[in-house]
Amino acid sequence: SSPEAPCSGFTEKQRRKQPGRKVILDFPRMMYYNSFLTVAVLFEQLINEPVTNYQKKRMGKGMKKVDLLYEGKAKKVYKTDDPDCYIVDYKDDATAMDGLKKGTIVGKGAINNRMTNHIFKLLEKEGIPTHYVEELSDRETAVKKVEIVPLEVIIRNITAGSFAKKMGVEEGIVFKRPTLEFSYKNDDLHDPFINKYYALSLELATEEEIDTITEYAFKVNEVMKKYFDSLGIDLVDFKIEFGRYKGQIILADEVSPDTCRLWDKETHEKLDKDRFRRDMGNVEDAYNEVFRRLGIEDRK
Ligand code: UDP
Repeated sequence: SSPEAPCSGFTEKQRRKQPGRKVILDFPRMMYYNSFLTVAVLFEQLINEPVTNYQKKRMGKGMKKVDLLYEGKAKKVYKTDDPDCYIVDYKDDATAMDGLKKGTIVGKGAINNRMTNHIFKLLEKEGIPTHYVEELSDRETAVKKVEIVPLEVIIRNITAGSFAKKMGVEEGIVFKRPTLEFSYKNDDLHDPFINKYYALSLELATEEEIDTITEYAFKVNEVMKKYFDSLGIDLVDFKIEFGRYKGQIILADEVSPDTCRLWDKETHEKLDKDRFRRDMGNVEDAYNEVFRRLGIEDRK
């Protein structure tokens, strides 16, 4: 015979048949469920943790160059055995005037590689995502594999170069607020000037992407301007490029004396590629001087 359930007025058997009856867990049963839950959570961590840590550690480490994917004017890009990574290899070759002028700037590859990585690490700290993964040697860096947005983004703080020429103003006028312009990355068309609406009509990027790029570009300018100022350098203008990585916009390519105009604050001496473009001499000295001021230690 079934024992009477206390207080309920039902037998144990009748109580079990009650539809929607509340399950009241007594203490031992709770302990049992709790320990089951703990084991389940631990098991999940055991499975997931090492995988993410492994991926983090592995990304870029011991990576092997597989195929040369692309050789540009100043860099080679290699596919690797990691599907999410490329290796960039910086060259000493320099070009200007849309490729008409060619030359070599001895030591430029190592300076541009190490300077880019140094700046990208600084930008990451300031909340700008970049493609940087790991510096592999003086000239080689593992980077995230991105799909480059075909827009060159140029920010200017002081008039120079094509802006001064096009707008009919002298070089060296300090803007109260920086300007931004886009060029369509297209060698056949010689990278023409375009605006956001052209870029949208040509479907080079979505509106959201262009807005993110614009926001990041001004932030990059703020961070770099302040940083170069502390090194006694005026950041006149620069060109950056962005890429898509797992659906997100991140900073890619390089930041170097090839892609920035850098003037000494005191002497206004040019410490960038304009020395090569304009045959001013002491090109290597200028690149070395920027590198020296960055205070990057020798690789071990
Ligand atoms: N720039 C670059 N790659 C280019 C064009 C420009 O890195 O293909 C950089 C250049 O070094 C400068 C800035 O973008 O720091 C603005 O360049 P500008 O439009 O004045 O063109 P440039 O006078 O160099 O032809």
